[in-house]
Amino acid sequence: MCYICSRNNKNLKMDKRTFLKNTAILTLGGAVAASLPGSLKSAAARGSAAEDRFQLPKLDYAYDALEPHIDAMTMEIHHSKHHAGYTRKFNAAVESAGLGDASLKDIFGKVSQHPVGIRNNGGGFYNHTLFWKCMSPTGGGTAGGDIGKALDKNFGSFDKFRELFSKAAATRFGSGWAWLVKTESGLVVSSTPNQDNPLMDVTEQQGYPLLAIDVWEHAYYLKYQNKRTDYIAAFWNVIDWDYVNERFNQAAK
Ligand code: MN
Repeated sequence: MCYICSRNNKNLKMDKRTFLKNTAILTLGGAVAASLPGSLKSAAARGSAAEDRFQLPKLDYAYDALEPHIDAMTMEIHHSKHHAGYTRKFNAAVESAGLGDASLKDIFGKVSQHPVGIRNNGGGFYNHTLFWKCMSPTGGGTAGGDIGKALDKNFGSFDKFRELFSKAAATRFGSGWAWLVKTESGLVVSSTPNQDNPLMDVTEQQGYPLLAIDVWEHAYYLKYQNKRTDYIAAFWNVIDWDYVNERFNQAAK
């Protein structure tokens, strides 16, 4: 058997199937297409990106609101290009994998069984959505409320937690994220490569993410260049501890 021919044949079959599926949906008309299960609806059938299942969230603050800690140009490119790209590709990947009705929790919980595009773009979609919420122009300082007490209890002190989290972010090799995670055995600091997150079955330290920092170079390079540790230090000035506290209490229920 010819490997190249076999691969070409497979591609041809896929192209033909995709073509037939799209043709069928386009000729059905909007009303009928709308009644199809989510997994069968193509972006074309649903009309516009505004109806995509996963939407790029609007930020709660302006692109320049986190200055001088996170610069406006980084925020704008990060949100309107990088996050928008992950969101668009995740919608396409979910649709082509027939996962239109699955929850994010289910998708991430079995992510090892799905195409890698689900893992990379789904993580990109979710992680950035969380990341924007973890920051605020009125953020910074130390954690209060229940999360403040829990950090003291789990790590000894806020400063000790800060040291561990900063170290996890600084030592993540290449691109990835650092996390504060609520697990069955308490709060844990961890990091993941690429766009993996603690909700995924491929992740060593699984749990509910409370706080996230993006340490991909695109998150800091325009302002901080190779000085990742300066960016991590600046992040502490914008952490929205009220939001982290809300997530902590949500997870406790
Ligand atoms: Mn990013």
